[in-house]
Amino acid sequence: MIYMKRRELLTTAMSVFAASTFPAGNGFAADFQAVGSQGEKVALNEAAIADLQKHNKGGVILPTSADYETARKIWNGSFNNRHPALIVRCADNNDVISAVQFARRHNLLTAVRCGGHSYSGQSTCDGGLVIDLGPYNTTVVDPGKKIARVDGGSMLRSLDRASEKYGLATTAGYVSHTGVGGLTTGGGQGRLQRKFGLSIDNLLSVDVVTADGKLLHADANENPDLFWAVRGGGGNFGIVTMFEFQLHELSPIVTSFNYTYAMADAVDVFKFYFDFNDQASDDMVAGAGMRRGAEGAPTVSISGTFIGSQKEAEAQLAPLAKFSKKPINARVGEARYADLQAGADNENAAGREFYSRYAFFNHVDPKLPEALVKTFMRGDGPPARTSMSIGSQGGVSGRIPENATAYAHRDAPYQLSTSADWIEKSEGQGLMKFCRESHAALLPYSDGGFYINQTTDEGEKQIRDNYRGNYERLVDAKTKYDPTNFFHLNANIRPRKA
Ligand SMILES: Cc1cc2nc3c(=O)[nH]c(=O)nc-3n(C[C@H](O)[C@H](O)[C@H](O)COP(=O)(O)OP(=O)(O)OC[C@H]3O[C@@H](n4cnc5c(N)ncnc54)[C@H](O)[C@@H]3O)c2cc1C
Repeated sequence: MIYMKRRELLTTAMSVFAASTFPAGNGFAADFQAVGSQGEKVALNEAAIADLQKHNKGGVILPTSADYETARKIWNGSFNNRHPALIVRCADNNDVISAVQFARRHNLLTAVRCGGHSYSGQSTCDGGLVIDLGPYNTTVVDPGKKIARVDGGSMLRSLDRASEKYGLATTAGYVSHTGVGGLTTGGGQGRLQRKFGLSIDNLLSVDVVTADGKLLHADANENPDLFWAVRGGGGNFGIVTMFEFQLHELSPIVTSFNYTYAMADAVDVFKFYFDFNDQASDDMVAGAGMRRGAEGAPTVSISGTFIGSQKEAEAQLAPLAKFSKKPINARVGEARYADLQAGADNENAAGREFYSRYAFFNHVDPKLPEALVKTFMRGDGPPARTSMSIGSQGGVSGRIPENATAYAHRDAPYQLSTSADWIEKSEGQGLMKFCRESHAALLPYSDGGFYINQTTDEGEKQIRDNYRGNYERLVDAKTKYDPTNFFHLNANIRPRKA
């Protein structure tokens, strides 16, 4: 029943942009309406689309195309009611340049997509143009120089797998179908961040198509302001078509662990976790979280990865084995690093609706463990499909100066993510309320900031405050490289007015 209603809604939304202007099975009409950068109506005609197609190798997808329904969807199902007027798939730099030029010429609302994992749906839009880098997705590794050149539309699995062949790796996120493009431009947290820094800390250079349709190379010497800004400033400055990463030797075998406890022990588990993690070496990345799944009671767990064999991990895991609380379930085992990176892919499959709020902690208040548990368990307890997870930063990523890249909050050793996902639309409001209220209750313990890659509904002031001392420098770069704010579907940094 709900499915039917949703379909009806989608059909209605489609009709706004397309139905009267796209004759069935006929490609496109002489004129059709799209949406401009400020929400105004823009008329596109057949000749303009034909010209775009002439310059494009990746494929131009229109609402009448057979693959439109698949192509328009992103990871977070909450935004799959959006219907772009056209999706320009890009296979190389020329495709990206011509897509940007087309969008500029027609003043179109424009979204940029790599892996489509934007929590807040920024990689799609209603009635505008999506520049989809999906087909531009090869990773080439130079094992001698220990360098990976990764195309701007690649998923993390491309980087992980290509590097693994040579016993090499660099920091990438925990789910291998996440895009290198969004993850890296926002920072890039992952299993290797304490050992090698964030993904951006391993970037050597980038190629960027800027808002004027030019291709620029940026590194420490060439366009250094652009290179600085794309390392944490998100998609504000242009479309990165090539990321050059420093790789590191990595034993293919690492050790993962998970200890799950009853909720009655949760406060002690968090107290133990913060002590345990404060002592951990840079080879260890550990988190602690409470979760209530689709069924059953909530549980609390400590889990993580040690970069090395199980034997090497033993000394560091010893405190966990000796912890006074008895786990309901304990698992320690070796895995290939690249397999582990893909291990959570299915449970994080695209399509469900999702909401989360995020906070950094630059110190651990002694009352935090109790506050976490009290907040999660308030009232009748957490709704199904909710979680509250503490993750750790620190290590190399915490020792790099805050102004070395645009990424702020390096001084925060811990971060909190409060999340929910759902299938039935009717559940969304209640679950989002649970996340928002949980976040508000714990905000006093945090430094007030959030991870830019987990932006949900934060406003302009929050984004400005979040970049702290790096903000004005980001505005300088935005004003220089995107003075009209063409790239604004992101955690937006506004250019100065001319
Ligand atoms: C299941 C899941 C797991 C995650 N795990 C992690 C994790 O372990 N570590 C972590 O740090 N983050 C993680 N994230 C957050 C993730 O980093 C962000 O959602 C990120 O924006 C996703 O990048 P994408 O390319 O897949 O997304 P998209 O939705 O395609 O892009 C998001 C935004 O990034 C920008 N962008 C994308 N590609 C480019 C490019 N080539 N050049 C310039 N700008 C670009 C655009 O502004 C775009 O709106 C996770 C997200 C999900 C959904």
